[in-house]
Amino acid sequence: MFRLACYAGIVFAIYWFGFRDGCGTKGALACPPPELEEGIGVTLDAREVCPGSGYLCAQGRNFQVVRWGLDKGRLRVRVPPVEFLQGESERKVRAAVVEGIKAWDRKPFPIVIDDGNYTLRFWDIRVVWTQGLNNHALGQARVNWKIDGKRMKMETDGMAVVIPPAAASGFNEGMHEYIKAVTMHEMSHALGIMWHSDSTRDIMYPQILPNTMAQLSERDLRTVEALYELPNGAMVQ
Ligand SMILES: [Zn+2]
Repeated sequence: MFRLACYAGIVFAIYWFGFRDGCGTKGALACPPPELEEGIGVTLDAREVCPGSGYLCAQGRNFQVVRWGLDKGRLRVRVPPVEFLQGESERKVRAAVVEGIKAWDRKPFPIVIDDGNYTLRFWDIRVVWTQGLNNHALGQARVNWKIDGKRMKMETDGMAVVIPPAAASGFNEGMHEYIKAVTMHEMSHALGIMWHSDSTRDIMYPQILPNTMAQLSERDLRTVEALYELPNGAMVQ
């Protein structure tokens, strides 16, 4: 009997912590109209979509809308300890990354940061720490999607942030801004922006330049906003 009660408790806990956080729950987004999340099969005219949408159409005027469903209500981001750093540097690197992630809070999703030691697997995006990537990139966000009826389901494998070796010894304000800027850039990819901006003022310019500031431009914000105004899965032509 106790065992059964235990199982029931576990099932309830999974429900409570895992699923009871969709749209319409406390602190989450309001539930979107169904047609906004059932865009497979819908075709939109690029001449209407592209103007005033930041660099949304920089990838060409022919693309599919791939983004998180607004009915998720919020996004959970797992920020695990940096395994190859200790003490002060570890805390500072993690703090810079958390700031970069939080820059996207409520744009559009409320973001819940999960940085505890023990966690259930209910995150949407997981930070992966690395000291270098094969392609010399500064970070990488891997996005997958699958189609389920009229719905587009987006997932991420992980969001890699490269931590330069210097972070262990000489952590300073410049390092903080740099790591934060890389994180903000990768978070935008993780939100569904799979291309780059041609303006050095935007965080989605493909490089971090010496004068890159860790801040989102109006255009960065407008581009993500425009993506989330389109029916998920729709084709833009
Ligand atoms: Zn990029």
